[in-house]
Amino acid sequence: MTDTLTRPVPDALTEAQELAAELIGDRAGAWDVAGELPLEVLRKLGARGVLCAEVPSAMGGLGLDSRRNGELTAYVGSLCSSTRSIMTSHGMAAWMVSRFGDRGQRRDLLAEFTSGRLAAVGFSEPGAGSDLSALTTEVRADGEDIVVSGRKMWVTGAQYADYVMVLARFGDAAAVVAVPTDAPGVELVPIDTAVLGCRAAGHINVLLNDVRLPASALLGGGGQDLTMLFTVALSYGRISVAWGSTGIVRACLKAAVEHARHREQSGKKIGEHQLVARHLAELFVAEQVSTRVCEHASAAWQSFSPDLVLATVTAKHVSAGHAAHGSSAAVQVLGSAGAVDGHVVARAYRDSKIMEIIEGSNEISQLILARHALSQQY
Ligand SMILES: Cc1cc2nc3c(=O)[nH]c(=O)nc-3n(C[C@H](O)[C@H](O)[C@H](O)COP(=O)(O)OP(=O)(O)OC[C@H]3O[C@@H](n4cnc5c(N)ncnc54)[C@H](O)[C@@H]3O)c2cc1C
Repeated sequence: MTDTLTRPVPDALTEAQELAAELIGDRAGAWDVAGELPLEVLRKLGARGVLCAEVPSAMGGLGLDSRRNGELTAYVGSLCSSTRSIMTSHGMAAWMVSRFGDRGQRRDLLAEFTSGRLAAVGFSEPGAGSDLSALTTEVRADGEDIVVSGRKMWVTGAQYADYVMVLARFGDAAAVVAVPTDAPGVELVPIDTAVLGCRAAGHINVLLNDVRLPASALLGGGGQDLTMLFTVALSYGRISVAWGSTGIVRACLKAAVEHARHREQSGKKIGEHQLVARHLAELFVAEQVSTRVCEHASAAWQSFSPDLVLATVTAKHVSAGHAAHGSSAAVQVLGSAGAVDGHVVARAYRDSKIMEIIEGSNEISQLILARHALSQQY
């Protein structure tokens, strides 16, 4: 018999996973078909610190290290990539506040981000996708205020968000601005066709029509280097997407193995047919490899390693690729059973393609990795 004295105390990671299991459960397929997440689920996850779990407990977060936050991200990703996308964006927003905000901004914004208020990240623009140096959104000082003008595209979670962290030009330099989505001049324009993947993640185009805000909305007073700003922010985003992709691989491995164990064709379980067994072996390897590169990236993050950027790009590139190939293999193993809208492997197949585009596309990752290879003596 266990009592309150002998029962093990659940740690923050276990509690966060249990909360995600309770709130998401098996509802992701229905949310995917509906193209929308329940806002109260996001608010509850946010209020318990799950969406930005690395924020220190003194600031209201869970204080998880990168690897444990990664395992949490993979778990959420295995259940629902749309919710995991919100987690990546919200976590990236909190990371930018932690990294670039002044003391007051860290206190105030992180308190909001860990109490159920939601944040998204606006980098991309019509003319600035892979090449963020082409962005034209601008913030300028005007008396005591600042004024933000421009257009941000594909902002994950902006449908639900209270803030969009906007990357903008600021004179000869750059800045991140915490723009409340209800500020006068902010126009939220839904993407009116169904998105290929992460369909419930609330992607919105955000128009910034001379949005006037107090200067305190400018993280750290602005004036930072543009490349430094997006490289630092994307490092968090890449680790998060890498772990999320690992979660997709885990969900696919589980679904494929369960199906191959039970489904019989030609007088035996399909897992005993060698060509099906090959898919299972590839999925098993995909899970192992993705986990290892993510662990390596999280270790680099935790130790402030000079190889951090390389490790995060590698992890994202490898895990996204395994998610894309692995989900295709899983659909193949399930056959028609997996070819229906909202099914975990059908969702994974569409969601994983997005992982090869965001936070640096496959091609951009390969260019970074090739540049590194060329700089080495082998
Ligand atoms: C579902 C989804 C969610 C998103 N969420 C967000 C978000 O929350 N916030 C945000 O700011 N943005 C978001 N984005 C935008 C995303 O970051 C961009 O789509 C991504 O950076 C690629 O930019 P692009 O789509 O303009 O493609 P492009 O940059 O036009 O690239 C098109 C193709 O050309 C290739 N290419 C481009 N340049 C080069 C080069 N120099 N060398 C070789 N190949 C090249 C690319 O790899 C790609 O294959 C999201 C996008 C999607 C689809």
